[in-house]
Amino acid sequence: MESKVLAHELIDFIKNSPTAYHATAQICRRLDAAGFQPLSETASWSLAPGGKYYVTRNASSVLAFMLPQGKAISYQVVATHSDSPAFKLKDVFDRPSPDGYIKLNVERYGGMLCSSWMDRPLGIAGRVIVATENGMQVRLLDFDRDMAIIPNVAIHMDRSANDGKSYNAQVDMLPILGVGGNDGFKKQLLDEIGIEEEQLLGHDLLLYPRDEGRVWGREGEMISAPRLDDLMCAFGAMEAFLAGGHDSVIPMLAVFDNEEVGSSTRQGAASSFLEDTLGRIELALKATGENEQDAYCRLSNSWMLSADNAHAVHPNHPEYADAQNKPRINGGIVLKFNAAQRYATDGIGGAAFRRICDRAGVRAQTYANRSDMPGGSTLGNIANTRVNLHTIDIGLPQLAMHSAYETAGTADLADYVRACTVFYHTAIRAGEGDTFTMEWGE
Ligand code: ZN
Repeated sequence: MESKVLAHELIDFIKNSPTAYHATAQICRRLDAAGFQPLSETASWSLAPGGKYYVTRNASSVLAFMLPQGKAISYQVVATHSDSPAFKLKDVFDRPSPDGYIKLNVERYGGMLCSSWMDRPLGIAGRVIVATENGMQVRLLDFDRDMAIIPNVAIHMDRSANDGKSYNAQVDMLPILGVGGNDGFKKQLLDEIGIEEEQLLGHDLLLYPRDEGRVWGREGEMISAPRLDDLMCAFGAMEAFLAGGHDSVIPMLAVFDNEEVGSSTRQGAASSFLEDTLGRIELALKATGENEQDAYCRLSNSWMLSADNAHAVHPNHPEYADAQNKPRINGGIVLKFNAAQRYATDGIGGAAFRRICDRAGVRAQTYANRSDMPGGSTLGNIANTRVNLHTIDIGLPQLAMHSAYETAGTADLADYVRACTVFYHTAIRAGEGDTFTMEWGE
């Protein structure tokens, strides 16, 4: 029952997060409501013991943390990503069509399954940058209505369409907004914001699938929705984070943009965002009388769950999965392993997470690529090149990753929230003789 309620809350969260900007804004609203104080990277910070804070970068990545009253022995971070593959409008986006269609010029953001984006209603959302008297202003925008379709070619015109088709993003994936009239989308955009053409200075606008998420299956055990990768993990981590943490750790929620394009941006997991934020927290802690060494000790005793969805074994193509390390839907949280360290989990991290899952009363299962197939990568190993955190790559099993409509399990989401909650409430202390002690909080 609880898992279905959570799944419906996730569906609402996804509906209100058509882009990374909206997902971040929504998380900030939840943090505001929970009494967190916003910090700005452009202002100096004064942090107090017991304080709850968050900071954003590019309005598309967010880090939130809670300072304990006493001394903290570690940071405990759950990291996820706010972005999903989508089609992004090019700077000049109106594409005149001699056949009367109102057509848009777009390019790929990330590696979506192109076929899944066709013949379904699409919305347009993102941000626009508008001229002001003295400069410019960024405005969040979501048309929140069915705006576009990328139409397939009829089977009668392309008889080979069912025999394996390739998609050329420059030709095949351009959406139409309708037919008739002389105005393109530009006019519609200006009307929507209520500005003149010369006031529109820039934009980051993306198409998004309009389909609502659904809970289905014989007992409501399945969930399908757009953007489950990685809003499912981001939403679940936020729920767990808002339940607080152990009184000698600094619990942290991290949601990064740009994972789908490699994370190497100003606000991605490879950026200085986490490093800078930890540095500024350490500055504040030093001001409370801690000594110079404390920051290094605390960091090297810190842990991060890098949570990004994982591939469940496919019902029709089990051959794509490894024989033993193949996750099942609702079979528990996935621990991801990769010898080449594209996933950061090692024996110690896997062991620590298994103890956490035991404590939470949930199951863990494992994922490894087939040894003859290259896999994806995620946040953990990328962030680890900048900050010293024991990192464990985990995820929730799902089907059709990077489809416009993805599928996962409702029980896995509930298990994940429980495991993250226990993680935040556990102080893991590295001790002598290669031991780790786990202090379970309330
Ligand atoms: Zn992902």
